[in-house]
Amino acid sequence: MKSVAIIGSGPSAIYLLKNILLGLENASNQIEEISIYEKRALPGIGMPYHPETTDIHNMANISSDEIPFLFITLEDWVREQDAVFFEKYDIDPSKINGSTLFRRLVLGEYFHSQFRLCCEKLREMGVNVSVNGDTEIIDIHYHETYCNLLSNVGQIFTAQTVFIATGHQFNVRDDRGEKYFSSPWPISKILPKKHNYHDFSIGILGASLSAFDVVASLAHRHGRFESVDNRFVYLPFENTEAFNMVLHDVNGWLPHLQYEQQSALRKVYRFIDKEHLWALVDEDGFLSLDVFFDQVCRPVLHRALLKDEEQSLAQDLLQPEFKLNDFIERMARKHEYQNAFEGLEVEMKEAEKLYFEHQPSHWKENLDDLMFCLNYHAELLSAEDYLYYKETMQPFLMNVIAALPIESAKKLLALYDAKKIDLIAGIVNLDQISIGEKVQVSVEDEQKSTTLDYDMFICSGGQKDVELEEYPFPSLIASGTVSAALKRFKDYSELEAPEESFNWVVKDDIQYLKAPGIAITNDYSLINRQGRAVENVYDITFCHAAGLRPYAYGLQACATTAEIAVLHWLTALNKPSLEMNM
Ligand SMILES: Cc1cc2nc3c(=O)[nH]c(=O)nc-3n(C[C@H](O)[C@H](O)[C@H](O)COP(=O)(O)OP(=O)(O)OC[C@H]3O[C@@H](n4cnc5c(N)ncnc54)[C@H](O)[C@@H]3O)c2cc1C
Repeated sequence: MKSVAIIGSGPSAIYLLKNILLGLENASNQIEEISIYEKRALPGIGMPYHPETTDIHNMANISSDEIPFLFITLEDWVREQDAVFFEKYDIDPSKINGSTLFRRLVLGEYFHSQFRLCCEKLREMGVNVSVNGDTEIIDIHYHETYCNLLSNVGQIFTAQTVFIATGHQFNVRDDRGEKYFSSPWPISKILPKKHNYHDFSIGILGASLSAFDVVASLAHRHGRFESVDNRFVYLPFENTEAFNMVLHDVNGWLPHLQYEQQSALRKVYRFIDKEHLWALVDEDGFLSLDVFFDQVCRPVLHRALLKDEEQSLAQDLLQPEFKLNDFIERMARKHEYQNAFEGLEVEMKEAEKLYFEHQPSHWKENLDDLMFCLNYHAELLSAEDYLYYKETMQPFLMNVIAALPIESAKKLLALYDAKKIDLIAGIVNLDQISIGEKVQVSVEDEQKSTTLDYDMFICSGGQKDVELEEYPFPSLIASGTVSAALKRFKDYSELEAPEESFNWVVKDDIQYLKAPGIAITNDYSLINRQGRAVENVYDITFCHAAGLRPYAYGLQACATTAEIAVLHWLTALNKPSLEMNM
């Protein structure tokens, strides 16, 4: 019997199921049983879209056009809903289109419906599908041909193949009392009780989309936004005079703004095919970032910048001495302002104009595609390039690509005008936070170190990479079925001595960097301590494999990753090969 277990039932699991269904439709049926395990009572939703974690005021930053297709588009699905639904989520059905951004809870309801439909369709194909809500899998015991899954209430389930799709890992245990929160999730924990206010100053670590969720949820509990002449005005409630929020970001940046795109869906091989990409790999097996930039990114970005009428930058890209680092520095500098909110105001006017005229920002869109491509080949990067990616490129990319919806930017500006929000640049050292009557936070910038007192402090920097030691299935670690992601140094001799942040491993006289998370094959099978693929355990959880797949954010990555893993699995089951749609 071919039995499959899927741990988790968020979007990654839903795209797994959809790809399994497609595989079965294209080939003879060999899968008899699929068991889905979800720790929450309500399955088929995912952490950011779930009513247990998120809040009515938290918006999605992805539109219907950008969500990889399931069985109906989000746009059409919302149109089919009734008046009660529209009222609940404040939707004007006459204004829905493919670019509408909905509240995240709307996406949750949509995913839930698609999950149920997918399970039904699989059952119609003769597969025995069981959905086990309220079932957290806390360990996996690996045997050569099967695995035993242990649940939080002591049940043991057996499956021949296991897909791990457990998604976000935010640990409430890391919170400290009612004043310091290691993440805002579930968001209900940071909100004031009914008829109460947080009439004090709240520090928020991060200034990206998660931080904006916190800002939106708290702002709506302490006042209301009124729409005036295409802007918002924030009107605080009585007795909330002392309520205000201070964002902390290393660079003092607010995110770039939502932009129009020519193609809503990312493609791994939009600008280079697999064969040509592999031809760029050097004799030592590395894909150098410089080579990738020169051969793939440079011509694409040059064309994109010309279309965006950024002539001078486009010209610079024609100079071979203008390198990746120069590009990042130039683009980052364009987004740097003495006062980030005033900068946001300037950028918003421009973004709004382009957005409503349907003029794409070609360089941002193409950069996203290029990085999507790099992500699915990041195992080829040397340790040196990987470190450069993590330390320099990633903060820049996150700032550009995880774009803030224009509506959210308007709310930020209204809060700023009402003196309810501020942004401080500098490094917050979390190890030095002290919690007494107040949460005392020290912030270091280039010139000085400052200590600030907050009544509440919320770390909202988004999902951290999960290290091997934090991997949620301890027996897989103990048995060596799972191993650390290692990155080979290209030129170890040039490195003087291990820096503190480096994590070094020496194996067979070769020096490796211990990258975050676990080792996986290109098809998402685990790699064991002996370096062999564990063919019947796949892990498609983006934060588990950040060392090898560092740019796997959002629903489009969930869909592509699920497709790769299922394709490999079904091929291994001797299915006729399936065409990938990347
Ligand atoms: C605040 C926030 C907002 C976001 N907004 C967007 C957005 O607007 N657009 C976008 O494209 N992306 C967004 N993302 C990115 C997000 O990662 C993906 O959209 C998507 O949720 C990832 O799906 P997933 O299934 O991999 O993980 P998750 O959504 O985290 O789902 C994993 C599921 O597994 C379950 N689970 C976990 N551990 C176990 C266990 N041991 N046993 C059983 N069940 C388990 C969880 O309960 C959950 O249901 C956002 C992320 C965050 C944190």
